[in-house]
Amino acid sequence: MVIEKIESFILKDKLSKSFFFSQWEYSERCICIVKITTSDGQYGWGEGYGPANVLEAGINLLKPMVIGKNPLENEVIWSDMYRKTLDFARRGILVASMSAIDVALWDLKGKILGLPVSVLLGGAQRSQVRPYATGLYFSDYNNPSKDFDKEVRQYIRKGFKAIKMKVGLGIKEDYKNVKRMREVIGEDIELMIDSNHAYTLREAVTLAKKLEPFDISWFEEPLSPEYYSQYNELRSKTTIPIAGGECEYLRFGFHQLLRNKSVDILQPDICASGGLTEAKKIAALASTYGIEIIPHTWGTAIGIHVALHFIANLESIPGRMMSPDFLMEFDQTENGLRERLTYPKIEMVDGMIDIPKRPGLGIDIDEAVLREYAIPKDRIESIL
Ligand code: MG
Repeated sequence: MVIEKIESFILKDKLSKSFFFSQWEYSERCICIVKITTSDGQYGWGEGYGPANVLEAGINLLKPMVIGKNPLENEVIWSDMYRKTLDFARRGILVASMSAIDVALWDLKGKILGLPVSVLLGGAQRSQVRPYATGLYFSDYNNPSKDFDKEVRQYIRKGFKAIKMKVGLGIKEDYKNVKRMREVIGEDIELMIDSNHAYTLREAVTLAKKLEPFDISWFEEPLSPEYYSQYNELRSKTTIPIAGGECEYLRFGFHQLLRNKSVDILQPDICASGGLTEAKKIAALASTYGIEIIPHTWGTAIGIHVALHFIANLESIPGRMMSPDFLMEFDQTENGLRERLTYPKIEMVDGMIDIPKRPGLGIDIDEAVLREYAIPKDRIESIL
């Protein structure tokens, strides 16, 4: 049995209402997913995080390095892809294309062996994770936070015990919004903030100091991801934990964040930073620094399942009898691809999600939905 076919699909969902954050506006969700099929007809699905058409070009470049190989030797395949692209792509989108292929291979390997990915990673250290809601994006340029109250109440009703909101509009506006959200959600729900690297060090210090009374669980990407030592300086000037890493790649990139003591929480996007093969190594590296990992997720339920299995396997550091729940990012913004493309659906019960026990990632793709969102349509129909 060898890998026979690699197909990529660009899926697009036009949003009913656009939203924005500190950097740009979203009016659609566009995602590249990949299917890898073996000579005996078994298959696995993967997803990349980044601009879909560039991801697809990267997957096309990598295909010849993967076709004909044994899918059970996924680490060997990873090394080969990395070595053959190292001269052009030590960071960035080509690593994300590798990640999509790597994730599909883990799914495929699990399906071949009849084991969930968490078991392939070494076993599930926990049976559930606690999702936190990612939302509270800005909806109106004249009054960006006008829908916040209504939206945050929906998250509370759904049972979320942790919620992440956007900041990055400026110190005054952010302060007003965070203060308001803390008032609405009360003291028992965790609140995190994410500026998507909107601030200078001076601004970030000022904002963090002002927000300290509101019990913020972390301040995500306060600064540009390039400024490793400024992150460290910010950490020394606020009691709010600092998080980052969604723009970082490979264990070598994460080592920069770790050895510069830039963050309290590391947030690799497994579908961009090197796939599950590399995420396992990033986790090992982080454990030597005693730094927590809460992966970034964004996209379809493929990526969310990747995070579920990865978090299930994470070592508790430090271990103790009454360990806190492990958190997982669960985007709540409009996205038909996340809601409809895969089955079974992700279910949150009493604020927790079970780690799937089915083989591979534990999901399959509804190919009718895939056809509905795929572009261009004529190409997809000829493939399936
Ligand atoms: Mg973020």
